[in-house]
Amino acid sequence: MKTYYLHILRFLTRLWKFSLLIAVCITLPSLATAQSLLRDTEIEQTLRAYTNPILRAANLNTSSVDMYLVNDKTLNAFVTRGQNIFIHTGLILEAENPNQLKGVIAHESGHIAAGHLVRRDRSNRSAYGSMLIAAGIGIAAILAGEGQAGASILAGSQQFGVLDALAHSRINEASADQAAAKYMEKTGQSGRGLLEFFEKFRYQEVLSNARRYPYFRGHPLSSDRIDKLREITGESIYKNVKDTDEELHQMVMMKAKLTGFLDAPQTVFSKYPKTDTSKPARYARAIAHYRAADLKNAITSIDSLIKDEPNNPYFHELKGQIYYESGKGELAIAPFQEAVRLMPSAPLLEIALAQVLIERGSPELNEKAIAHLKSALRKEGTNGFAWYQLSQAYDRKNEPALARYAIAEQAFAMGDYYRAKSFALRAQSGLVAYRAQKRRASDIIVIAEIQLAKQKNRRR
Ligand SMILES: [Zn+2]
Repeated sequence: MKTYYLHILRFLTRLWKFSLLIAVCITLPSLATAQSLLRDTEIEQTLRAYTNPILRAANLNTSSVDMYLVNDKTLNAFVTRGQNIFIHTGLILEAENPNQLKGVIAHESGHIAAGHLVRRDRSNRSAYGSMLIAAGIGIAAILAGEGQAGASILAGSQQFGVLDALAHSRINEASADQAAAKYMEKTGQSGRGLLEFFEKFRYQEVLSNARRYPYFRGHPLSSDRIDKLREITGESIYKNVKDTDEELHQMVMMKAKLTGFLDAPQTVFSKYPKTDTSKPARYARAIAHYRAADLKNAITSIDSLIKDEPNNPYFHELKGQIYYESGKGELAIAPFQEAVRLMPSAPLLEIALAQVLIERGSPELNEKAIAHLKSALRKEGTNGFAWYQLSQAYDRKNEPALARYAIAEQAFAMGDYYRAKSFALRAQSGLVAYRAQKRRASDIIVIAEIQLAKQKNRRR
């Protein structure tokens, strides 16, 4: 991940090869500030573990609320139409404990449950509607794994932070605070984290809007609001409930990982000095060593963690990534296989393994890769990077129709309907022996045509 802020194309083509912390740069032409979406199984699992009980308390369907991690140091979290929660890495790093982070997530869930965003969009359709749509496509494309197209769509729209430029009204803020307190109560947790968080950033209230963190531009703080929240959370019988040891551990590991990947190695080594032999410190250092191209120390650090926790899939995943990114693909297979064995439910782990297997080049490993990609796609069918890998594997197997079909799926997942239709049409004639794929190719053609017609209308 050394190529982090390099030229976008090189950055993207390289970065999508990563198994861990798959990031895509969404840069404005200036490159002054770079934002990216991060994908990482461990962090996603932690955020889900914190969030899902809150969503259930809000009577929201956990599987229809999507969460995105934005690589941005500023403190922000926001929701967009379609039940999407965006969390900046800056928010995670600033939160002092899981309870604070959960409080903010509960507040955002309150906005979703009350449909605040929908109303907001309707009244601002002209100004914000098109921007959100553009960003939506970009986001879908990026998650689908085709970084370049997604990034170019987004480069034409705005950065994520700006999406929330329009502030929630004070009434909506108060109602989201109350909802947050209610959800925390319902899950037997303390609402104090949100209060602490607001108090910590109370000074933001007196700053000019431009100097505030994006979060407090979108969610204006006020003394009234803080006092009201103190009153409600103080009444809860759960007000003194603390985060569990497991939750605290998940948080320090998540912070260590983000710091390891996102800060300069020297900064990581000063935040987590050698004298600190705790797990998070060794984790952050393992990542920093590998990013500093110090393979020996990277492997020593990650091996020490594996020795402590041989059943932790993420440690094996990191080891696989260290080897793979250091050009030692043959050594990456075993750790990735171990990660998948320990956590067969995680699509990103299987995709990472499959990529290494395909690159080894033998027909036997290629077959294994196909099986892993199919398994990953059963869990995350819109993962365009997995479809792309699958097309590569079919290509090596000399199955051109299946390869074209996989490209059609990839394009479809990223919202590139023109390309999806074109590849589905070209695949069709060769799919006689593959009924399910043939049917799916026909569906793609039909849906793509409808979407293309819609796009044409929108442009008029
Ligand atoms: Zn709010």
